Amino acid sequence: MSKVLLTLWMTVAFLSFARAQEEARQQYLREQAMLKRMMLERELDSGVYYMDQGEHKKADAKFRYVLANIQGVPSDLAFHFGKNSYFLGQYAQSVDWLNKYIQLKGTTGQYSTEAVQWLKKAEEGVLRARAEEAKDRPQRVMSSEYDIDCGPTGKVICPVCYGDHVIIKKGAFGDQYQTCPYCNEHGILTCEEYNQLIRGALKPKF
Ligand SMILES: [Zn+2]
Repeated sequence: MSKVLLTLWMTVAFLSFARAQEEARQQYLREQAMLKRMMLERELDSGVYYMDQGEHKKADAKFRYVLANIQGVPSDLAFHFGKNSYFLGQYAQSVDWLNKYIQLKGTTGQYSTEAVQWLKKAEEGVLRARAEEAKDRPQRVMSSEYDIDCGPTGKVICPVCYGDHVIIKKGAFGDQYQTCPYCNEHGILTCEEYNQLIRGALKPKF
């Protein structure tokens, strides 16, 4: 009888020991997570410090480090990263993160008013950058804006039916054959018709 009791006691002792060990492990993990979070918050703070000093590249590096390591981006980080992105000329990125902050905090957040102001500037930046880009790009020259000289014959093989005067359409019940509505029975367009066609102005005959 006492042997049974002893076994029972040992089992209970072992189980409570195992549970205590598991609890200690969980506690340790919680502490580690908290320490990491605190470390990341310090990085975030020093990012804000650099930003306020006008050292936007350094601030950017800090914010990016926090973003890469933190679980669950705090709304403050969304605001600061968005604002700093504006200073770096990363307007689209700035708009993105500032919008995120405003979505999270609405109009009552600590930085809401400021976020709206920076967002407006960043959106202007996006438009400005787009306009600059358009200015630098050379004007596109499209052939359809010009009259094409079809040569001495004044005739062109119809580009719709490739001169067959027949268009083949793949249908569910096999190929369908249609007469080409643009060219004459020889699959030929006049030069005038050809120029209308490439402008999308040639009306089909049927
Ligand atoms: Zn044709």
